[in-house]
Amino acid sequence: MHVSMRASLLITSAAFAAAVLLCRSDAAAAEDRLILVLAPAADDARVEPVREAIAFWNARLEELGVATRLAEPRVVVASPAARTLENYARGVAQRGVRLPGGEAEPDAPRELRNLDADIVVLLSRQDILSYTWPLPRIDPPRYLVVIRLARGLDRGDAMVSRHVVAHELGHALGLLHNDSPHTLMCGPCQPLTSEPDETGFLPLTGAERARLVALYGRP
Ligand SMILES: [Zn+2]
Repeated sequence: MHVSMRASLLITSAAFAAAVLLCRSDAAAAEDRLILVLAPAADDARVEPVREAIAFWNARLEELGVATRLAEPRVVVASPAARTLENYARGVAQRGVRLPGGEAEPDAPRELRNLDADIVVLLSRQDILSYTWPLPRIDPPRYLVVIRLARGLDRGDAMVSRHVVAHELGHALGLLHNDSPHTLMCGPCQPLTSEPDETGFLPLTGAERARLVALYGRP
């Protein structure tokens, strides 16, 4: 994928971005989950993997016959909210994202709550854990998905990024970890011996497909 083509899809004006955040896209159906991607730069290598992971999930949801889809993501570069979200993301990671939040969990910052999206994907500048976090006391649930800055061997590895993003979006769709180490929603995982299936991603389990139908299927 050419960087110039990718960059042309991005919204690069913060002022325009602020206006976009105030209204839902008319193109999005009622069942669509709105996704906002905050990228530190227009040429961030994680933007394309985000699009691929969204396409993956939409193909699976279509296969399952449910109406819900992940909407075409809106990408905002250098958002004024990014600094606050980075601080929040670090704080959640330091508290330990595996602990249940409960009543003591502080509210998400206003800058995050005000974003009009069901799923906010922060392409982080920090070398922290990638994770998915439900915003406390918000119903219907909304999620912050943090995708860490890739370093070392993973740097620029689109395959690693798309699996990480697909895994985290799976959480935002309501899936938990399973104990099958070679599947997409593994936890723990054995990525070195895992092979993608014909979708180009790691497989879902039958239980996960059933859960998605239970969550999003029409009665
Ligand atoms: Zn996970």
